[in-house]
Amino acid sequence: MKLLLLALLAINSVHCSTSMVYVCGSPTATKYHLSPSCRGLSNCNYRIVAISLDSARESNKTLCKWER
Ligand SMILES: [Zn+2]
Repeated sequence: MKLLLLALLAINSVHCSTSMVYVCGSPTATKYHLSPSCRGLSNCNYRIVAISLDSARESNKTLCKWER
């Protein structure tokens, strides 16, 4: 079961490798978002920045809790 999950994650990450995600421009932001209108971004007081999923992961950002 765990192996299946890992396989699905691997397929998903390859498929989404060029997709863009959205992060709050705050230096303390730790999440990335699949939608710029996500409610997790609604309390961001900085500008919203579109970056590649790869660079979001490289800066140790994780998917926001609303979009899991
Ligand atoms: Zn979000």
